[in-house]
Amino acid sequence: MKKILVVNAGSSSLKFKLYLMPSEEVLCSGIAERIMHEDAIFQIKINQQSYKEVLPISDHKKAVHLLVDALKKHNIIQSFDEIAAIGHRVVQGGKYYNKSVIFDESVAEKVHSLIDLAPLHNGPNLTGYRAFKEILPNIPNVATFDTAFHRSMAEEDFVFPIPYELTTKYDLYRYGFHGTSHEYLAIEGAKLLGQENLKIITCHIGSGASISAVKNGKCVATSMGLTPLGGIMMGTRTGDIDPSIVYFLCHKLNKDIQEVYDILNKKSGLLGVSGVSNDARDVDKAKAKGNERAILAQRLFIRRIADYIGQYFVRLGGADLIIFSAGIGENSHSFRQNVIKEISSALEIDFNEEINKNSRAITTLLTNPSSKVHVALIPTDEEVMIARDTFRLI
Ligand code: ADP
Repeated sequence: MKKILVVNAGSSSLKFKLYLMPSEEVLCSGIAERIMHEDAIFQIKINQQSYKEVLPISDHKKAVHLLVDALKKHNIIQSFDEIAAIGHRVVQGGKYYNKSVIFDESVAEKVHSLIDLAPLHNGPNLTGYRAFKEILPNIPNVATFDTAFHRSMAEEDFVFPIPYELTTKYDLYRYGFHGTSHEYLAIEGAKLLGQENLKIITCHIGSGASISAVKNGKCVATSMGLTPLGGIMMGTRTGDIDPSIVYFLCHKLNKDIQEVYDILNKKSGLLGVSGVSNDARDVDKAKAKGNERAILAQRLFIRRIADYIGQYFVRLGGADLIIFSAGIGENSHSFRQNVIKEISSALEIDFNEEINKNSRAITTLLTNPSSKVHVALIPTDEEVMIARDTFRLI
């Protein structure tokens, strides 16, 4: 048995989970939030018990110190060398990585070179790595990339129809994201049906949302693009739109490209269409009160998802299983019901509405045995995938 620490470093946060591998038992989890603030928060959860402190956390290194001290204080480890390795989530692996790798200086340089493609993520991911490297220099690190699972796509699935010289000069490809989640869902989906060599459509529907087509465990298509802005409509992001809207808005609003880009990323999607909220629950409530824009936002959201599922059904030459996951996919039975309503007759889905209504956040098959295409709810677990890869690599 080995203890593996899984880390997800954001610009002002550091999430962690300590696993015992290979049993996948979670020994503790937690988060340092509001890093660089005087009133930052450090929280650790052990056996359902949560311990929270409000204190200044000057930087990620300080957060790592707090974490390792807390592990000792709560007797989860007696000494640091009990941590066999640290697995880091890295969002953008670019064209370089199609699987997890040992995170060393040469990988750090590559991750740094990709900051342009993922400015909000790769910088903080790297800061997290460097903080651990400095404080625990003898413990090996592993990088798991959100983009790696999608590297199996064919060229016609990841090249955009812009001038090819620009594509290659700036590496402007469809990288896709949430790859660790899509891979996990495809593995768990195959376990659920007790079969291999399946055609699966994985729907990760949270505030960020993406859909992938997976054949025999390999990704053949995914909805997000160069950045997480592409694909289906999301909480605040547009997903795919006619790019001329950007040109038009710059002119009409007399705004520069950055301001319009912010509108597409932060003020669109469920929030922009409904005018109510980016949170699907708030949109649901407004819809129940008859708010027309909330109704439209939800219809648009469902339509985009149904269209992608249809596209991937064709792309895969049929499907054995459609999986719903993440915040909305796992928790909202009405959302799942609404999507299925759009696709069930074409895909010959025999949906069990009763089971769907009573299912939440637990792996469940939502179709009757006679269904041509099955549908399942599977809670995603990106951290355990990182723990598995880290354990395997060391
Ligand atoms: P992310 O990880 O991308 O931030 P999550 O996967 O946590 O997002 O999903 C957040 C979304 O899940 C929010 O829009 C929230 O409204 C939605 N959500 C959570 N619980 C429910 C629920 N019971 N019904 C509908 N939506 C829900």
